[in-house]
Amino acid sequence: MDIKAKKSLGQNFLKEESVLKNIANSIATNENDLIIEIGPGKGALTKHLKNKNSYLVCYEIDNRMTEILKKLEDDKTKIIFQDFLAANILEDIKDYDYENIYIIANIPYYITTPIIKKVIELPKLESMSLLVQKEVAERFSANPGSKAYGSLTVYLNYYFEINYLFTVKNTCFEPIPKVDSAVINFKKRDKKTDIKNEELLFKLIEDSFKMKRKTLKNNLKNYDWYKINEVLIKNNLPDNIRAEEISLDLFIAIANNLA
Ligand code: SAM
Repeated sequence: MDIKAKKSLGQNFLKEESVLKNIANSIATNENDLIIEIGPGKGALTKHLKNKNSYLVCYEIDNRMTEILKKLEDDKTKIIFQDFLAANILEDIKDYDYENIYIIANIPYYITTPIIKKVIELPKLESMSLLVQKEVAERFSANPGSKAYGSLTVYLNYYFEINYLFTVKNTCFEPIPKVDSAVINFKKRDKKTDIKNEELLFKLIEDSFKMKRKTLKNNLKNYDWYKINEVLIKNNLPDNIRAEEISLDLFIAIANNLA
């Protein structure tokens, strides 16, 4: 069946078997784990995921894929035709007796951040591999001091160990998108225990990046600068530093000193 790719749904279908295999292998699941695939499309990746013999739940928004995807269902594989962002995940997976959850998705760039925000606190989430635009992958895995580093990078670092796995050339897709993509893996960290006030930490991170070109001092006018500077001095950092140069651990140290 010839289904025309819909640009509005970010449909670029992966056609390289080796890439599909590498994405499926980027999560190490056993038969008691649960994989959630977002946007299976025509099922190219789904077929590889099925071979892992874990529980598999897929969310696809495009009903035109029904005939193709329904064929992949079995007692461990379920396809749900729904917008993932509107899904009640815990309700959908409640009948499975799973150990850990793994998420895998080749997703359009415009829902990458909403998806991450939706699953960030999902109980038993172990890791997720996302195929996203290369530039987005670079932003997520950026280090302090690089251009791509921002508040989202810091926030994600709080929850996950983030690894840029490999680049996927645009020619591996049909239709061919304008830019290359990359696979990035997010491995859930054990919750940091040395944080005095999580709410204060998140607010501090958000406020620090408010005006991109301003120094930390200028962005944090409403904070006790003396307490912040104490931490900077201790770490041999100048007081005209910008948020882009500050690591998660340093934000934690600052928040703890303010708490
Ligand atoms: N996984 C397939 C592959 O690798 O060839 C398809 C990838 S394609 C880039 C993205 C898929 O996500 C499309 O099938 C699209 O219909 C689906 N999609 C887009 N937005 C979605 C949403 N909000 N919820 C679920 N699926 C969505």
